[in-house]
Amino acid sequence: MAERRRGGYFGFPLIYKIAIGLGVGIVVGIIAGPAIAPVKPLGDFFVTLLKMCIMPIVLFSLVVGAASISPARGVRIGVKTIVFYLVTTFIAVLIGLAIANLFKPGLGLALAGEEVVREVAAPAIKDVLLGLIPKNPFAALAEGKVLPTIVFAILVGTALSYLKEMKVPRISEAADTVLRVSDGLAEVMYKLVSWILEIAPYGVFALIAVVVGTQGAKVLGPLGVVTGVVYLGLIIHYFVVYGGALRIWGFNPARFWPRARDASLTAFVTRSSSGTLPVTMTVAREKLGIDRGIYSFTLPLGATINMDGTCLYQAVCAMFIANAVGMPLAIGAQMLVMITAVLASIGTAGVPGAGAIMLLLVLESVGLPVEAGTSVALAYGMILGIDAILDMGRTSLNVTGDLAVTSIIAKTENMINLDFWRGGAKAKA
Ligand code: ASP
Repeated sequence: MAERRRGGYFGFPLIYKIAIGLGVGIVVGIIAGPAIAPVKPLGDFFVTLLKMCIMPIVLFSLVVGAASISPARGVRIGVKTIVFYLVTTFIAVLIGLAIANLFKPGLGLALAGEEVVREVAAPAIKDVLLGLIPKNPFAALAEGKVLPTIVFAILVGTALSYLKEMKVPRISEAADTVLRVSDGLAEVMYKLVSWILEIAPYGVFALIAVVVGTQGAKVLGPLGVVTGVVYLGLIIHYFVVYGGALRIWGFNPARFWPRARDASLTAFVTRSSSGTLPVTMTVAREKLGIDRGIYSFTLPLGATINMDGTCLYQAVCAMFIANAVGMPLAIGAQMLVMITAVLASIGTAGVPGAGAIMLLLVLESVGLPVEAGTSVALAYGMILGIDAILDMGRTSLNVTGDLAVTSIIAKTENMINLDFWRGGAKAKA
């Protein structure tokens, strides 16, 4: 977002105001405890405003983005992006398993309950693929279904790029008008996001205060270890994997993190990759200088399928739960966790708490179904008790990962303005 040169409140950089909101929120949350709950609507207000922008910004940006690149190039970008997303997610699950083996969270907790073993239900691949095609694109838009909307917007954008070149003036002019209108509407959405970000400090304050106030105390005790292990894994992935990948592709990671910060922080407090999407797209455009042809596709896709933080969290929590019920996972079972956690994270919706639901799938795959009265249910309940705290970190990693991969893909396609990465300047596209 453009920071204006004004004095007083509006002259003070937004990012500092957000940082203050975060700090004050943590302190107030600790002091007030559960009594902080009445400020929740303030956080909801901020998140709802962001949500308002998600579908329009995805649709209009992607129509224009898809029209700006050739279909062949589009396919290449698509394949590269998915491969990158998958590889980083695999690395995340490996990190999760490695540190969980090292610290063994939950071991010795010996939770008791009845044992239940149940069959594992596999999701049908054909349904997943068919679900990508919107039967009714307007319904997909109205219901906020990002993947079918991506497919529709790419098709519309590609058709427009062909129509624009047609010899019949009526058609080429009409196509050009549709593109200009889409472009204008995308600009409108970016403007709205910049206004919404002006109230971010208050939203951030409320969101963090409520989480700290209601869940903070539970992190003490045995859950402290699991929280520490999850966050350690997230930090390793954040700095080593993304930092390393950015370096390999010739970026200075120290330039990336501060520029990605608005999105990382918004994800941290909103606990929603989808909710953060309007901010993530704004950051890609205004802070990282990435071409719309890239980010309008990679970011909505990433917010839906690329969940490195979630995958890492699921691996650690599966290990914690297995340890806590006295059935530590052998190497074969850990392999299973690896595969199911990657798949489960891909299937996790970018909304708060979704990763904890998909964790059920991972647990089932290793014969630890969550059934009422079992020790597994007890251990799972413990994790749910601190889920918001874990969700903040994993969502922040999910979103930051989308931006890191998007920067790299943009560089390999020569679709990034590297002036944005020089010095401390914050240029605008
Ligand atoms: N909250 C996460 C996200 O939006 C998903 C999860 O619960 O792991 O990325």
